[in-house]
Amino acid sequence: MMNERLRMVQDLIDKGYIKSESVRRAMERVPRDEFVPEDEKHRAYLDIPLPIGEGQTISAPHMVAMIAELLDLEGGMKVLEVGTGCGYNAAVIAEIIGREGHLYTVERIHSLYERARRKLEALGYDNITVIHGDGSRGYPPEAPYSRIYVTAAAPYIPEPLREQLEVGGKLLIPVGSDKFYQELVLVERLSSGDYRSRNLGGVAFVPLIGKHGWKFH
Ligand code: SAM
Repeated sequence: MMNERLRMVQDLIDKGYIKSESVRRAMERVPRDEFVPEDEKHRAYLDIPLPIGEGQTISAPHMVAMIAELLDLEGGMKVLEVGTGCGYNAAVIAEIIGREGHLYTVERIHSLYERARRKLEALGYDNITVIHGDGSRGYPPEAPYSRIYVTAAAPYIPEPLREQLEVGGKLLIPVGSDKFYQELVLVERLSSGDYRSRNLGGVAFVPLIGKHGWKFH
């Protein structure tokens, strides 16, 4: 498995998804096979999304690499993830921000929350807190955050997420109404009332469901 993991990382470097040393090191360390269901382990190091139950998916490794690079992370940062899924993306980000940093991650489906929480604990990630709830509302108790990223597609940018960014902070979120195509948007909080948004191109994520997301199941 380790060889397959190193090969996957080298492939992501060759294709230009992994650019920095910190993202390379993080993706070399996190065992993706530990996060996928038993019957998907043989495909854990292919660059594709995989089913994780409850109709949800673990994102493709190149998407996790892209998110990690675009967030421009530093050690010690406080980060919020919306959409824990199986916890793999959370582990990669937690490796980058290190022991002085902390990642809060919110998942709405209880069984996924429970599984991710146990797995991350078993792997020793004590700089991650997994929360069960509606992440479209953010997570006010620990706000503001240096970085917020959403791993599900929203119909619009949820106001609570913008408000929970610190000044100088960045929010990365897929936005759009199409099931198979959304725009990845990077929002920077320039001052307390001033935000700048940039569209970074097309992506495909499962829907963000909640108060500031989609209302259907
Ligand atoms: N980052 C994940 C990983 O590494 O497995 C992939 C996440 S998956 C593409 C998106 C997740 O967002 C799903 O588990 C889904 O249940 C969750 N989700 C959707 N709406 C949510 C909400 N309002 N709050 C929290 N989680 C939500």
